Amino acid sequence: MDFNVNSDFQLNLLWKKRGTEIIVATLPSQVKGRSLFIHHTDLRCLRPHLWLTGEIIQGLLHLSAFTYNVVDTIYLMDYYTAGVLLFGDRATTRRHTLPKVNFDNFDGILSFVHVNKNHWNMLYIHAKSGTVYQMDPSPASSELEDSTHAAQRLQEYLKIRKHQGKTDWVDVKWKGGVMPHPVQMDGCSCGVIVVEMARAVMEAFPEFPKMNFSTKRRAMEEARRDMALQVLESSVFDEETCSMCGADKPPGQAPPVTDWIQCDNCDRWFHNLCVNMDQNKLKELKKRQWLCVLCR
Ligand SMILES: [Zn+2]
Ligand SMILES: [Zn+2]
Repeated sequence: MDFNVNSDFQLNLLWKKRGTEIIVATLPSQVKGRSLFIHHTDLRCLRPHLWLTGEIIQGLLHLSAFTYNVVDTIYLMDYYTAGVLLFGDRATTRRHTLPKVNFDNFDGILSFVHVNKNHWNMLYIHAKSGTVYQMDPSPASSELEDSTHAAQRLQEYLKIRKHQGKTDWVDVKWKGGVMPHPVQMDGCSCGVIVVEMARAVMEAFPEFPKMNFSTKRRAMEEARRDMALQVLESSVFDEETCSMCGADKPPGQAPPVTDWIQCDNCDRWFHNLCVNMDQNKLKELKKRQWLCVLCR
């Protein structure tokens, strides 16, 4: 079975199966040469009424940046760093200042952060107007306060970077802003709405977006399915890498010879070590049919 064709069929299968840690999609990212791995469990969280993982939101944001052609204009900050920027203590912040990134090469930053328990907000930094938006899908939000706080934190973040010799964006006076957007009508789709808001931002960039997507139950379900299909269809299948660890060499202390085994159903490749298979078992199984955990 070739899993690049008929992604609809493939998606139904992947959603039905109990979650595994297999990499089901390898997505291109803004950083050349660094792919993003989407695991089976990440893809499954797009099913209706589930909370999205950071990995799936991140993957979708990078895909959208290619769709809307903003890969070179909007910096997609990873959500861990965005969390440190907004909420980290000084010591942690000093360790996450992105020394290799020059913000002057970009006109904005898009990211998302984890707030409270299991809730996603979008973070949007518009450099030209010096405005920071922390956008909360929840109807009961305090966006002006949140955005103002985020703007102060950004100013401090850039000051810390300045101490480390980076002077990009330090002369901008940042302020918090709000913009209208649809709000969530259920308790689980904050991540889906963050992706939709981010897409609207990218599509309109550098102008301000009009956000008028629906957040009704049916629309959210459709959006989730479309997103999952987009992930599967955008996957760049790489035969050189292991579908369990995502690397060409197995992790940890590797033996001098790396052995591989291929699933006879889906054609994915695995390091024998990554599927807990020793040399003897591998030899034995190579003579017979072998199915990966996804296809068993
Ligand atoms: Zn591996
Ligand atoms: Zn398989």
